[in-house]
Amino acid sequence: MSIALSHRVKRIKPSPTLAVTARAARLRAEGQDIIGLGAGEPDFDTPAHIAEAGIAAIKGGFTRYTNVDGTPELKDAIIAKFRRDNELSYGRSQILVSAGAKHTIFNLMMALLDPTDEVVIPAPYWVSYPDMALLADGIPVFIDAGAEQGYKINAAQLESAITPRTRLFILNSPSNPTGAGYTRGELEALGAVLARHPRVIIGTDDMYEHIWWGPEPFCSLVTACPSLYDRTVTINGVSKSYAMTGWRIGYCGGPAELIGAMATIQGQSTSNPTSISQKAATIALNGDQRCVGEMTQAFKARHDFIVKGLNSLRGVSCLPGFGTFYAFANVAQAMANLGCFDDNDFAERLITEALVAVVPGSGFGAPRHMRLSFACSMATLEKALERMRKVLG
Ligand code: PLP
Repeated sequence: MSIALSHRVKRIKPSPTLAVTARAARLRAEGQDIIGLGAGEPDFDTPAHIAEAGIAAIKGGFTRYTNVDGTPELKDAIIAKFRRDNELSYGRSQILVSAGAKHTIFNLMMALLDPTDEVVIPAPYWVSYPDMALLADGIPVFIDAGAEQGYKINAAQLESAITPRTRLFILNSPSNPTGAGYTRGELEALGAVLARHPRVIIGTDDMYEHIWWGPEPFCSLVTACPSLYDRTVTINGVSKSYAMTGWRIGYCGGPAELIGAMATIQGQSTSNPTSISQKAATIALNGDQRCVGEMTQAFKARHDFIVKGLNSLRGVSCLPGFGTFYAFANVAQAMANLGCFDDNDFAERLITEALVAVVPGSGFGAPRHMRLSFACSMATLEKALERMRKVLG
C-alpha cells in the first residue's frame, strides 16, 4: 500500500551531509576502509568537566520536565555569554533554549513565516536553511557568492535580493560550508541595507563563533549594527564549540515577542530540551573556557594543512577560511579531468575509487565544489590527501 504523504514533506529532501555519513557507514559495515570527511561534528570528546555535570544531573535526579524554554540557570548562563562575548544584553524573556540550534532555526521559521514569505539566504549555505523555509511554507531566495568574492555577499547583492515579500534574512559567519567570515566593516555595510527594510527580521547563525582565526576578532551582526537589535535573533549553541553535538542544546536571544512565539511552538511540539543536557550546557558556558581554545588551535593547524594539500591536487582550488572545521574546494577542473558530469558524480568517484567520503557542493547551493570536514586527526587527513592524489593526480 502506498501512503499519501503531505505536500509539506514532499517539498523537502533528506540532509545531504547526513546522507554521505550514512553511506560511508554502510560501506564501512561492508568491510571497506572508508575515510569519512562528511560529518559536521568535532572529533573531540565532550570535555570532562562538562560531561561530569551531566552525570551529576542524572545522579541528582534532575531528570524531569523543565520549563519549556529552558531552565533559569541555563538562561542566565546564556545571558552572561552574550554579554561577555558579544556585548549584547538580554533578559530571560528574550532567551529560548532548544534541542540544538537546528531546532532553534526551525522554531524561528515556523513562528515567522506565512505562505510565500521570502527567506533570503546567501549561497553557499548550510544545507538545512532552504528546506526549513520550505517546511514553514516560505520561499528561499538565494544570493550567490562565489570564490571570486570570498564566498561572501556584498551590500548591493543584499539590496537587490530584498523584495516587499522578504520576511527573514539568514547570515552564517563563519560559514558552514566555506569557513568564510564577515569582518565588522562588512557587517556594517550589510546592516546599512537592512536598516532600510524594517519589515525584515534577521537571523544570525553564530554556531562557529569560537572556531575562528580571522584577521580580526569575531563579530556578530547585531554587535556591529546595534540599531538592528529589535529585529535580530542571535543564534548559537554548544554543539560545535564544546564538542557536544549529541547533547542537543542550541539557544538564541532576540525580541521577546518573537522568542515567546517560538517557545509556544516548542511547547506544542518537543517541550523542553533535555534536562540533563541543560545542566551540562550551563557548566559549558559558565566554566573554564580553555577547552574551546585548545580545540580551535587543533582545527586551525588542520585547516592550514588541508587547504595547502587540497591546492596541490590537480584541478582543485580551495580558499583559506576564517574558521569552522570545513574546507570548501572548487573541483570544476578536477571534474572535467575525470569526465564527471556533476559534483555528485565526482563525490561518487572519490568514495568508490579513493575511499574518501566528501559532501558534493550542490547540497550547499554551490555546484562543482566539495566540502571536507577536517574534524579528524592529521594522520587521517594525510591519508585522505594521498588517496585523492592517486585518483586526481
Ligand atoms: N548552524 C550551522 C551553520 C550548522 O553547521 C549546524 C550544524 O551542523 C547547526 C546550525 C545546528 O547545530 P546543532 O543543531 O547541533 O546545534
